[in-house]
Amino acid sequence: MDEGRSREGWLAGLTLTVGGVLLTLAGPPGPAVWWGLSWSIINGLVLVTGTFFRSRQGQFFLLGVNLVLAGSWLFAGGGAGTPLFPFLLLLPLLVPLYLGQKQVVVAGLVMVLFLGLYWYIKAGLPLNSHSLALWGGWITLAGFCFFAWLKILDEAFKVSSLQAEVDHWHREYKRSLSQLAAVELMAVTDDLTGLFNYRYFEQSLERLLSPQQQLRSLAVLMIDIDHFKEINDSFGHLVGNRVLVELAAILKEHTREQDIVTRFGGEEFAIILPGTDYRGALQVAERIRRAIAEHSFNKAGAPVRLTVSTGIAIWPEDGLNKEELVARADLALYQAKTTGRNSVYPYRMLKAEAGP
Ligand code: GH3
Ligand code: MG
Ligand code: MG
Repeated sequence: MDEGRSREGWLAGLTLTVGGVLLTLAGPPGPAVWWGLSWSIINGLVLVTGTFFRSRQGQFFLLGVNLVLAGSWLFAGGGAGTPLFPFLLLLPLLVPLYLGQKQVVVAGLVMVLFLGLYWYIKAGLPLNSHSLALWGGWITLAGFCFFAWLKILDEAFKVSSLQAEVDHWHREYKRSLSQLAAVELMAVTDDLTGLFNYRYFEQSLERLLSPQQQLRSLAVLMIDIDHFKEINDSFGHLVGNRVLVELAAILKEHTREQDIVTRFGGEEFAIILPGTDYRGALQVAERIRRAIAEHSFNKAGAPVRLTVSTGIAIWPEDGLNKEELVARADLALYQAKTTGRNSVYPYRMLKAEAGP
């Protein structure tokens, strides 16, 4: 059964047609008969084509046509002599109708029918084929109005419950997204220091070196703590760990928001400085070196002094890809270690020493 020819559409058309025909037959002869018949025919066509309830515009159009035809019928004297009092009894039924209590509405309609009949007979009004047709017509039409309202309210309830469901799934979706983001963040975070890990270093360097990024320059700093083994040996591994956390905070403090500070492994750290050239990288590395050398690490119980050695490689002059940059920053770091530690060594100087 398609949407246009729904059970409700057929029922609506049928009640309107039957109601219209009965009222036409009950009315006085003359122009009112023609209005009543066209009213019935129009609604009969709705029944045949099944266009009722198909679209909101269609519903409004049909409502307008019905109002015009019913108004003309009444104006032509079609409703003359109709007892209206029993129909006032329909008003309280609007409450269960509004609440969507279909059974109460149907029971109420039946009750109104009998009460109306009782009132009609008691008032001594004639009970013949004419008055029965009038009654039948009015009651069928009243039933239709109630039915149409029920249908419209049903749709409204459906829409609001669907909306609630959509809202619920939208909230669920957002919650899953934030959970996913939290899991993704965990996968690239170093447990001990809270810095990014080696995996994130690799991913970021690859992403930043891709042609789409169109960076002018980029620097990689490779930082290794000097004689860190001695800290472990003197104070234990746990104290060593706390010192690593403290040192990570210094690295964060002396870099910009867009710089990527990572724990490369063990007591080695790598920092990516996007958009930074040789001079800039030298300044940052020197600033970090000095800050660490001047810092007193209290986590060890007694104040401990530390120094770091740093190797620098610059893209694009020192290396064109991730592997070359890391290897060259490592070579420079090794040079910083062998030339006395607590120092910064750029790969550019190694090249210069090696000569053309
Ligand atoms: P160098 O100046 O040559 O770098 O001397 P070093 O002692 O720092 O030597 P190296 O860089 O090879 O550092 C290795 C030591 O770092 C070994 C290990 O005791 C320590 N280490 C590595 N990872 C961790 C860690 O996660 N926690 C702690 N507490 N110590 C670590
Ligand atoms: Mg090391
Ligand atoms: Mg070391």
